[in-house]
Amino acid sequence: MEERRVALITGGSRGIGKKVAEKFAKEGYNLVINYVSDSTNIEEIAKEIKQTTQEEIEILWIKADVTDFASCENMIKQAIEKFGKIDVLVNNAGITKDNLLARMKEEEFDKVIEVNLKGSFNMTKSVIPFMMKKRYGRIVNISSVVGVSGNSGQCNYAASKAGIIGFTKSIAKELASRNILANCIAPGFITTDMTNVLSEEIKQEIAKQIPLKKMGTASEVANAVYFFANEENTYITGQVLNVDGGMVM
Ligand code: NAD
Repeated sequence: MEERRVALITGGSRGIGKKVAEKFAKEGYNLVINYVSDSTNIEEIAKEIKQTTQEEIEILWIKADVTDFASCENMIKQAIEKFGKIDVLVNNAGITKDNLLARMKEEEFDKVIEVNLKGSFNMTKSVIPFMMKKRYGRIVNISSVVGVSGNSGQCNYAASKAGIIGFTKSIAKELASRNILANCIAPGFITTDMTNVLSEEIKQEIAKQIPLKKMGTASEVANAVYFFANEENTYITGQVLNVDGGMVM
């Protein structure tokens, strides 16, 4: 049997990350799933992920905070010890701390940059020596349409997501010669815990402004991640793909 590909997903225990994990499982990838919260029921989630696939895949779970560089290096080390390689990195872990700039605390700005942008740096920097050695890698970073268009009340989040786009384009240029392709997905409004904090009224208001007149699903984002990450993508790098029902064109 051909050796399985290996995908590492940060923040992969719920929401978009979990659906990305399920998509790769379905396609026969072994998984490294990072999570951060002690209350994460990994047995239950592993069962759910494995139910979505016919393949005998293996899952390595690693609890780590992506803001800590040493923890990220350690995560990659454990993954390499287990699987010998990492073919795909999906930088999905992310948070919001919304506020108008006039009211935003310095900590709210710093924390969002630290998780969303610095976390992506920490993981990417730690993984690339191993991808370079294999002369193969697919990196998919989860940005956001607000990183492209901006959004009132989200200057910290929008800056972090715009930063991810600049980061991705730069590493796409640096790493192309090693057959490492890096791209961004920019989701619009997707139904997950992150957006469940919004009131029903606000969600309906948002849906009205989307050409497809509805919020997206985590699976719709996961399919786009796989489009960039699978081995048949050999010529797309440094791109941003909006998965947003036509919200930002
Ligand atoms: P979510 O809150 O369900 O998932 C975020 C995940 O990141 C969780 O698993 C969480 O534990 C993890 N995480 C947070 N801080 C972490 C840390 N320090 N270390 C490791 N993991 C950490 O939300 P989601 O909607 O699934 O978001 C996934 C990604 O998609 C995020 O990057 C988010 O910014 C992005 N996104 C979401 C939407 C949306 O509408 N839901 C839109 C655009 C972009």
